Amino acid sequence: MKFARQFGILALVGCFLVGCDTTGDRAAVNTSPAVDGNWYQRSMLWLHEDHHTQAAHAVGREADPAETRRLIAELAPDVLQIHAKGNPGWTTYPSKVGYTPPKLARDVLGLYRDIARQDGYHWSIYYNIGRDGEIMRRRPEFNRDRPDGSEYERALCYHSGVGPQYIWPMLREIITGYQPDGFWFDGSVFTIANCYCPVCRERFQREQQLDAPKRPGDKGWSAYSQMQRQIYREFITQTCQQIHAVDPDCLVSFNWAYSIRMPERPDPAIAYLTGDIANHVEKLPAEAHWYDSTGLPFDLMTTGHTFTQNDAGKLAAIPKPAAQIQQEIAVIIANGGRFNLWDNPTPESGLRPERFEAFNQYVTPFVRARQPWCMNTQRTAEVSLLHNTASHYALAEKTRKPFNRANNRIDGATEMLSRLHLDYEMIGDWRLHALDVRSPLLVVEHPRALSAADIDAIKKLIASGRDVLITGMGLNANKKLWPVFGIASIDFASGSEPFTVTVDNRKYELNHWLNRITVAGADVLLTAVDADGKFTPLLTAHRHGRCTAYYMPIPLLSAHQTNTPPIGFVNDVFAMLRPMRERVLATDAPPSVHVILRQRGEQRIVHMVNMSKGHRIITSRKGTYDAAVIDRLEPVPPCHVSLQLDHKPRAVTLQPQNQPVTGWRYANGRLEVDSPSFDVHQMIVID
Ligand SMILES: [Zn+2]
Repeated sequence: MKFARQFGILALVGCFLVGCDTTGDRAAVNTSPAVDGNWYQRSMLWLHEDHHTQAAHAVGREADPAETRRLIAELAPDVLQIHAKGNPGWTTYPSKVGYTPPKLARDVLGLYRDIARQDGYHWSIYYNIGRDGEIMRRRPEFNRDRPDGSEYERALCYHSGVGPQYIWPMLREIITGYQPDGFWFDGSVFTIANCYCPVCRERFQREQQLDAPKRPGDKGWSAYSQMQRQIYREFITQTCQQIHAVDPDCLVSFNWAYSIRMPERPDPAIAYLTGDIANHVEKLPAEAHWYDSTGLPFDLMTTGHTFTQNDAGKLAAIPKPAAQIQQEIAVIIANGGRFNLWDNPTPESGLRPERFEAFNQYVTPFVRARQPWCMNTQRTAEVSLLHNTASHYALAEKTRKPFNRANNRIDGATEMLSRLHLDYEMIGDWRLHALDVRSPLLVVEHPRALSAADIDAIKKLIASGRDVLITGMGLNANKKLWPVFGIASIDFASGSEPFTVTVDNRKYELNHWLNRITVAGADVLLTAVDADGKFTPLLTAHRHGRCTAYYMPIPLLSAHQTNTPPIGFVNDVFAMLRPMRERVLATDAPPSVHVILRQRGEQRIVHMVNMSKGHRIITSRKGTYDAAVIDRLEPVPPCHVSLQLDHKPRAVTLQPQNQPVTGWRYANGRLEVDSPSFDVHQMIVID
């Protein structure tokens, strides 16, 4: 690590200044193993100790150095991470800048640093950069204000001066004292609600010559939300600059920045992407697909524990059962991610042995057995799904949250495409505008808005040989696209209505927002019959040489509650757009199995992940997420996979069991393989 070499003496001085204690081997402080270049890309398994310290506790009292070190070694992660400061605002170390718990019994941050150095773990520090209870109490001018001047609960305003006056000096103190290989910043993008502090209002007045709008729909609301987004971007850039001025090699990430809620090209100073979903396996796949599509490496974090009612009727934390945590791990690593394990120490910093015994039995072996076929691979996508900022931020504009997560287009499309075994990449603005679409079909699902650059890129994409499907309101405000799609007129739907459609003798009864269109050049592939018996086009195709511009005048994939078209109909539509014989991968696996094709050089890896609901018990917890316990999954039955391949493979192997597949066939450019029954995750590796 360059920093350790350049600043070694300074680091030691800093260590004494902030009073860190160690596990004994002080020389280890300056011995940083395997940190040249980007250590993140070589790491697969993290341990994150989620330690939101409080003033009332003797923080560190239960962190026995030898026992802490022994338990961490049970998991044997690649990366070790613990809090420097949690959202209450108290530290885990003696700080001259921040708020040290008055009963601090041990420098916990120093203890973890020393364990990381001694045992060869990369060393990352968690810092809550968006929430701070002590700042809210002591320096309310740094907190985010509501329109009436009251304060949002624990949400810092990045435009208030909190960076230069509090956060950045504290980060310098931490770098100097504890030499992290990286920072993991929490609490930022999802705590952002439009802020009305004097500094934010003054900037808006200066930039727009307008008073700050108070509610969605007010004059200037869109510009106000845009300004809040810009403040966050600037804060990320400036924070990275502050860190890299001291340690250029320190890898920085912000929890959920550049995720689905912020579908922007990541700032070049960001090393990797990350997000935590404690206990909700269904939310993982879409985020993993999005992160995997950005070009940056990523991890997703889930808890190693869950909650249940014990015999006395009280809430008790238990290690997640093997089936549950392995399902979470599988869907993350099958989509190209790293697994970040979230554990909570006791309030006084002790680790719980029963959890680490469980991790040792069924987390580490599960990850390590799969790692060779998961890391540094690339998806071979069957379709591409547009996730553009124009549409996403237009949806967010109905709220006070400029980076709102809700997006029923993306939620519906990601789930449906996985159930249809149409593995997808997701296309952000920058990839669309660069025409970087790596499947034969771009799906533009019912976008609330398309920018002028989006429209221009869609036209160019079609001219360059890609098929494009636009659905729902995608053509409503974008008349320039009508000739490209062979549409002459659109009579916009003002509500949902019943209609029927027949595909190959299968009749579907739908109820949806149906735009009435007339065509000029497009072929009509499907026709709807409305309640009055009138016919209207439901799927049109306008040919441009080898490729086609498709339009479907209803939302096809969006989650629209009872209006959502049935999976059988959607399957029939995609069978017309991407015929089975042309698909890279076809399978008869159940819809609950996520099938993902990835590639590294000539090697191809088919991942099959059992995403069935399993046997689960949900426990409600007041004020926080409901906790699921999933103690078993029904095994996936044997199924067949057909894969497009331009040469006969040398070997087809089931992994991680390292078992050659018998009876595979290669003919007409396709490999036919039978997969045996499996419980959670099966890989078929084709060499
Ligand atoms: Zn503000």
